[in-house]
Amino acid sequence: MTTGRQKCGFCGGESVYHRLYSGEQLCRSCFRDSLEEKTRRTISQYKMLKHGDTVAVAVSGGKDSLSLLDILSKLTQAHGEKIVAVTVDEGIEGYRGEAVELARSEAAKRDVPFHVVSFESLFGFTLNRALDAWPDRSISACTVCGILRRRAIDLAAEQVGATVVATAHNLDDFLQTYFINLTSGDVGRLEFLYPGLEPSIGLPRRVKPFVEIYEEEIAFYAFLSGIPFQTEPCPYMDEGVRTEIREFLNRLERRHPGVKHSTYKTAMKMLSGRGEEKSSDRRSVRCNRCGRPASDKLCSVCRIIETIQNNRSSKL
Ligand code: SF4
Ligand code: ZN
Repeated sequence: MTTGRQKCGFCGGESVYHRLYSGEQLCRSCFRDSLEEKTRRTISQYKMLKHGDTVAVAVSGGKDSLSLLDILSKLTQAHGEKIVAVTVDEGIEGYRGEAVELARSEAAKRDVPFHVVSFESLFGFTLNRALDAWPDRSISACTVCGILRRRAIDLAAEQVGATVVATAHNLDDFLQTYFINLTSGDVGRLEFLYPGLEPSIGLPRRVKPFVEIYEEEIAFYAFLSGIPFQTEPCPYMDEGVRTEIREFLNRLERRHPGVKHSTYKTAMKMLSGRGEEKSSDRRSVRCNRCGRPASDKLCSVCRIIETIQNNRSSKL
């Protein structure tokens, strides 16, 4: 929450932020330092980065990913890891072009190499064309896009020789996904949320350095840092139950500051043992077509490609 005429509890300067859950008042500079420090502590707590890693930072062009790029470019300079910004162009007409250019220019400002991949070049179709070809449109755009994006980021990471993929998922994202899986009874997916999981063989480590930071604070960090970001929402955005869970958690947090953070802590305690167990038994099955880790004969990406190809040829 922004504030006025109070003094920063750390340096005595003018406070611009009142952190309700801790009672802290923070000036511009101490607020930004506090987010950088929290990111550093999260990385260290879950051993997200190792000396000599090459980190592919997934940059979509939104406030979270550009703030992550900003903070990681500072932290990795100090610790000897190399970073590369990777961006996925899904081929969403009138939307993704602006974000790709923002990602490119923000990476250049920080002397971070930039690498872009597209659905078209990797899979042979854009998201627009995939959705047009989907039989009876029985799947949400975000489901198709999410599965393909994840693979695209892994492929982009391989192309730049990255050992780690860093994504900008924040504490709010974590809690929303946790509740979605909790209410759908999907215990398997729940366990994969643990931030300290070892990757499947052959895949880069996936880390979420913002997992303990509120979305609101990242937005304020981007604002205070003068980071430009894309505000236009994706035309396919249809979050369904996620929106209801977000509103519920935000309402709860307004009435009981800190409740998101304590819920996160409880979830971590419940997931830590089970998550570690899960990481050891999820590597053996391989997709018959692409050879990547899968939960069935075909991985979810190859299933999507097959569905689209079948539907295209049946229309010829
Ligand atoms: Fe993809 Fe959905 Fe995000 Fe749009 S809102 S970029 S369709 S996941
Ligand atoms: Zn496959």
